[in-house]
Amino acid sequence: MLDADMGEFDLIERYFTRPAARAALGVGDDCALLEPGPGMQLAVSSDMLVEGRHFLSTVDPCKLGHKALAVNLSDLAACGAAPLAFTLALALPRADDAWLAPFARGLLALADQHGCDLIGGDTTQGPLNICITVFGEVPRGQALLRSGAQAGDDVYVSGTLGDARLALEVFRGTLDVPAEVFRQARARLEQPTPRVALGLALRGVASSAIDVSDGLLGDLGHILKASGVGAVIDTSMTTNLIAAYQGPTKAKAGFDSDKQLDYVLAGGDDYELVFTAQVARRQAVQAAAAHAQTPVTRIGSIEAQPGLRLVDAQGAPVSVQHLRSFDHFA
Ligand code: ADP
Ligand code: MG
Repeated sequence: MLDADMGEFDLIERYFTRPAARAALGVGDDCALLEPGPGMQLAVSSDMLVEGRHFLSTVDPCKLGHKALAVNLSDLAACGAAPLAFTLALALPRADDAWLAPFARGLLALADQHGCDLIGGDTTQGPLNICITVFGEVPRGQALLRSGAQAGDDVYVSGTLGDARLALEVFRGTLDVPAEVFRQARARLEQPTPRVALGLALRGVASSAIDVSDGLLGDLGHILKASGVGAVIDTSMTTNLIAAYQGPTKAKAGFDSDKQLDYVLAGGDDYELVFTAQVARRQAVQAAAAHAQTPVTRIGSIEAQPGLRLVDAQGAPVSVQHLRSFDHFA
């Protein structure tokens, strides 16, 4: 029991029970039942959000509901898997309508957008903690993996990077930006867009993929390690990647270029896709991006020599001592 007025089962029934569209059986029995199509593999991933660590207690619950599912859908996207269903394990300090109603609204709106059924979970009293496990499907052998990058492949990133970090720094009080820039950056931090359509379109096109949760360099580093290769990244391709600053170019004057590079390369919480593809597939990559209505930017290439090298437009090395996530590749 969570509350004298609303017990655990009332709460589940009121907020988290809906007819399953894709699952064979949803909420209400001891297990849910999923039936992936013939020849399909199940893709499964969990992400936990803990108050104080992944979000502030003051965040709008509707946006938190969105983000909790978005970060999980992003993992499916990175594997080229189509969302099927998810479970929700929730620890709540109290059964509070004013929190639960908007949380469920934000969560289920994104779920509906992706046709992803809420099929079960667990609900208990405790410090606020949200753990989602998401299930997707992908044709056998077609999942995009971290291990497929080959020397000579191009490296791409989807959408924009650095906005979430920019908003975080404003919240931390280390950065001051115009209100409109903050508004855009904050939307990216609080309501990231999982690149599911792009992940699907990149099946059979990309040679490897990962989603950017910890920062471009760190996450690309996982691809390099899993694939046993290195990469050279042209930092001049990345400096335009902060969306909040693409409109108001005037506002950008005065935004320190080192800081900008730091946010783009090591910011984190972006939930974009970093992926590689053979040079011969450039047109196919553009077609996938157009089909998914998601811009992609080519930022470098994979090399046989291990490690990650940053260069400017002329090919001269760029020093990035100040980038935290770069230490791994020294
Ligand atoms: P059990 O005791 O068998 O683990 P519970 O009593 O915890 O089952 O939950 C009853 C049903 O409600 C189960 O189908 C479970 O998956 C579902 N459920 C519990 N919490 C949630 C939640 N937060 N969201 C969606 N479904 C939930
Ligand atoms: Mg239970």
